[in-house]
Amino acid sequence: MNYEAVIGLEVHVQLKTKTKTFCGCSTEFGNTPNSQVCAVCLGFPGSLPVLNRLALDYAIKVALALNCKIHEFTKFDRKNYFYPDLPKNYQISQYELPLATQGFIEIKTNIESKRIGIRRVHLEEDAGKLIHQEDLSLVDFNRAGIPLLEIVSEPEINSPQEAYEYLLSLKRKIEYLEVSDCDMEKGSLRCDANVSLRKSGAKDLGTKTELKNMNSFKAVKDALAFEIKRQSELLVKNRPVTQETRLWDEKIQRTFPMRTKEEAQDYRYFPEPDLPPFLITQDKIDQIKKTIPELPEEKKLRFIRDYSLSEYDATILISSKKDASFAEECIKAYPDKDKKPLVNWLIGPLLSEANNRKSGLWNLGVSPRDLIELVGFVQRGEISHLTAKAVLTEMIDMRKSPREIINAKNLIQISDASDLEKIAEEVIRENPKSKEDYQRGKTNALMFLVGQVMKKTKNKANPKLAQEILKRRLDNA
Ligand SMILES: [Zn+2]
Repeated sequence: MNYEAVIGLEVHVQLKTKTKTFCGCSTEFGNTPNSQVCAVCLGFPGSLPVLNRLALDYAIKVALALNCKIHEFTKFDRKNYFYPDLPKNYQISQYELPLATQGFIEIKTNIESKRIGIRRVHLEEDAGKLIHQEDLSLVDFNRAGIPLLEIVSEPEINSPQEAYEYLLSLKRKIEYLEVSDCDMEKGSLRCDANVSLRKSGAKDLGTKTELKNMNSFKAVKDALAFEIKRQSELLVKNRPVTQETRLWDEKIQRTFPMRTKEEAQDYRYFPEPDLPPFLITQDKIDQIKKTIPELPEEKKLRFIRDYSLSEYDATILISSKKDASFAEECIKAYPDKDKKPLVNWLIGPLLSEANNRKSGLWNLGVSPRDLIELVGFVQRGEISHLTAKAVLTEMIDMRKSPREIINAKNLIQISDASDLEKIAEEVIRENPKSKEDYQRGKTNALMFLVGQVMKKTKNKANPKLAQEILKRRLDNA
C-alpha cells in the first residue's frame, strides 16, 4: 500500500527590534536573567501595552516577501493559558483577523519548482524561558514580550526534503530582509510540524500528529522521516494513529508522546481590550514594499543571467546576503568575460576556508582585488593550484596580499621553456636507464623523470610544461 505524507509547518521567528512588542525593555540576547523586565512584560495589574511600531513594520515586510495579502483591518487577541513562563497568564496574539494570509513560497523539488501556500502570518509576543535543573526550575522573563512572527504553511508539503527546502527558503528570505537572526540555536527561529498519512490519491486527510522540540532543520527532516515511518507501520497493521503532540529526541532519533494530552485545548480567545483594532493603509504597505531588497531567488536568477553562472554555483553564492554581495563585487571586478575560474575559487577554496573558520566569505579579510590577483597567478600558470591554496591560507592568517607572499617565498614556477629545456636535458643525461625504459614502452618512466625535474627545481617547475618538454626530447631522441 502506498501512502502519501501531508505536512504543515508552523514557524516562529523572533523579530530583532531593539525593544519588546508592548514595552520599552531591551531584547538583547544573553544578559543576566530577569534584568530586562518591567511592569508591562511582567503583567502587573494596571499596566498597559503600547505596540512597537517597528515590530509591525517588520511583520508587514516579511508578509509581503512571502507574497501574502496584508489585511487592512487587524487586531490583537488574548490567548489564555497558564504556564510558569507566562507572567500575564495570557499571550497577546492574533486569532481571527491575522495580519496577513494567502501567501506562498516556491521551493525546488527534484524535477521542478513547487508552490507551498502560506495560510497566515501573525504577530504575537514571546513567552519567558524555563531553565530546568536537577531538583528545581528557574524562569527568565527577559524573553517575555519579544516580538514573534508566526508563519503557518498550508498542509501542502509532501516529504521531509520538501519541508527542509521550505524552511531554507523561508529563512533565507527573512535573513535578506534583516529583520531576524533566524538562529535556531539561540531560539530566534523555531519550527513545529504536523504530519499525517493518507492513501495515495485519497482526498481526505489522515489523523495527524504534531511534532515539537526540533532544534535544527536537519532535526525537522529526521523527525518527519521517523514519524512517517512510524505512522505507516501502524496503518499497514491496520492500527489507528493517535492524534497527539510528540517530542523529538535528538539523541536516540525517535519521537515520543508528550505526557499531557492537550489536543482539545480551549484558549478562550477574546479581543485584547487594551489594544484597539487598527487600520493598515495602502500607503503604509507601499512604503514598506519599497524597502524590500532584492530577495535570494531574484538574485540567483540575476546572477545566472548577468554573469552566465550555473544554477548550482549561483545557489551557493546567494545563500547568505553578505556573501552574495562580496561574490558580486569580485565577479564584477574580474577582468575576464568567463567568470568560471574566479567562481570556482569562491565556492571552492575560499568557501572551505570560511567553513573551517565558521565565518563568511565576506569577512575572511580577503579583498576582491587580492582574490582576483591570486586567481590571476594560477591562470597564468605562475603558481600551481596547490601552492595557491597555501597562499590563500596565509593571506587570511597574515592579512597579506598574494603578491607579497609569492615574492617573499619565491614561489613563481619555472615556466620559462628555455630554463626547463636545460634542466630536462640534464635529467635525461643523468638517468640513461629511465630513457631506455621509456623508449621500450614503459611510459611511467616519463613520470619518474618529471619527478627528477621537480626535485632539481625544488618543486618550482611547471610540471605540465616539464612533462611536455621531456616527452618531446625522448620521442625525438
Ligand atoms: Zn517590559
